Amino acid sequence: MKNLSRDTLDFLSTDKQLFIGNEWTRAAGDEVFETVNPADGEVLCRVSLAGAFDVDSAVNAARTAYTDTVRGMSPGKRAALMHRLAELIKRDAAIFAEIECLDNGKPYKRALADVKAAIAHLQYYAGWADKIEASQIPVNDPSVLVYTRREALGVAALIVPWNFPLVMAIWKLAPALACGNCCILKPAQQTPLSAIYLAERVREAGFPSGMVQVLTGDGETGALLSHHHDINKVSFTGSTAVGKKILAASAASNLKKVSLELGGKSPNIIFGDADMKRVRESLVWACFFNSGQECTLGSRVYVEASRFDEVAEALAADARSLKMGPGLSNPDLGPLISAQQLERVRAYIRRGKDDATLLLGGEEPLEGLDDGYFVQPTVFAAHDQQAVIVQEEIFGPVVTLTPFSGEEELLAMANGTPYGLASAVWTQDISRAHRIAHDLQAGVVWINGYDMFHPAVPFGGYKESGIGREMGRSALDLYTQEKAVWVNL
Ligand code: NAD
Ligand code: MG
Repeated sequence: MKNLSRDTLDFLSTDKQLFIGNEWTRAAGDEVFETVNPADGEVLCRVSLAGAFDVDSAVNAARTAYTDTVRGMSPGKRAALMHRLAELIKRDAAIFAEIECLDNGKPYKRALADVKAAIAHLQYYAGWADKIEASQIPVNDPSVLVYTRREALGVAALIVPWNFPLVMAIWKLAPALACGNCCILKPAQQTPLSAIYLAERVREAGFPSGMVQVLTGDGETGALLSHHHDINKVSFTGSTAVGKKILAASAASNLKKVSLELGGKSPNIIFGDADMKRVRESLVWACFFNSGQECTLGSRVYVEASRFDEVAEALAADARSLKMGPGLSNPDLGPLISAQQLERVRAYIRRGKDDATLLLGGEEPLEGLDDGYFVQPTVFAAHDQQAVIVQEEIFGPVVTLTPFSGEEELLAMANGTPYGLASAVWTQDISRAHRIAHDLQAGVVWINGYDMFHPAVPFGGYKESGIGREMGRSALDLYTQEKAVWVNL
């Protein structure tokens, strides 16, 4: 078991407060919640829970900073602050990783990889800050000049989930700051700690007061933000159900801009001619990465009928060999995030046993790990495509395997859910690979690979998997608005 650093122990030894206007402050109503270590259910910290008064304070701080300071800040200055923040995260990478590992439950090495991804993302968008160009548009009248400006939106609320807490926060903060907005980050109540540690680094990096707030709280806090009349933008990652509420809250308040990264039920398609060695190296992770708590999880595996048994056996053997344990013991898979999520996943497994054939796993408790929220990798053979475990996002280590014959049948099944986030196709036939890629209803298609990401490549959902594209140049559109300026010369 990895030992915790002195810095991490110090950090965990105090109650956590709200970060508003570069100051730490208790919630006005003095409400707190507890965040636990999902590997053993122990309380890690007590954390302030932001209510209506605190949300107003955070919005005021952000609005004042935007009007007085950030609106007039040079792009170069924004870039420098972001680069400085990236350096501080790099300096404290081990502390961030320990905090994330404890609060979320993920293996330490994975938490460290998340920190590295967050740094790369921040650096990538620091590079954009002074490259947000607009256009000059010819209008067929030489005496008229028309040009456009890309302007910041103002105050942006960033509401993030618990599966990749630091990475999700930076996916939103980085482009929002590069574009010159002031931000209110609302981490998930299950994993507030890395955002709190980040806030202290924001102050250390020299960001002006009010440019970044961190408001810890629950869904109520998120709802207060999404209904607020003086917030210009909500960027959300989480469940489709809450995403719909956020869109409705925008409509009911001030039509704030909304971007949504929601759930998925992604098809991972294996043709008979695929390079089975590469499939095998990838498949077990496509199915069980982050204990299945991943929006792009390849949770529906489609295998050409002739190779079905072979793939099913290989997956079961590889899944069986995955080591589970607390994140600090550096296992392959950590626990689920909470008792509630454990119950949710177990309910899906029970349902799956009625509607499909269990090939591996199930819900029996794991020896020595009964205090944590662990679930074994679970594989079902599923023929009925309308079965609940085929249609709904489970967000746990549970996948379905289904045989197919022919592209037409395959595409009907692969596109046959309300989701459209990610997808993958494995084949050696280059024409077929691209044909299928064009017909899949998903925001990303991986050919002969899975879960490949880069800050420069847009990511987001078709259908009920979301609105808007994060990452790459596309994210600049989420945090700016376009203005046309007409000049009679
Ligand atoms: P959630 O969508 O409820 O929570 C995500 C974030 O939204 C959290 O910060 C939460 O506090 C906030 N939130 C909750 N209710 C809100 C509201 N009414 N208005 C504004 N913000 C609100 O997700 P969950 O309940 O933690 O998990 C439930 C399921 O959601 C999971 O089982 C999984 O299927 C899905 N999920 C998906 C992702 C993803 O990345 N696609 C991430 C987390 C959860
Ligand atoms: Mg926690």
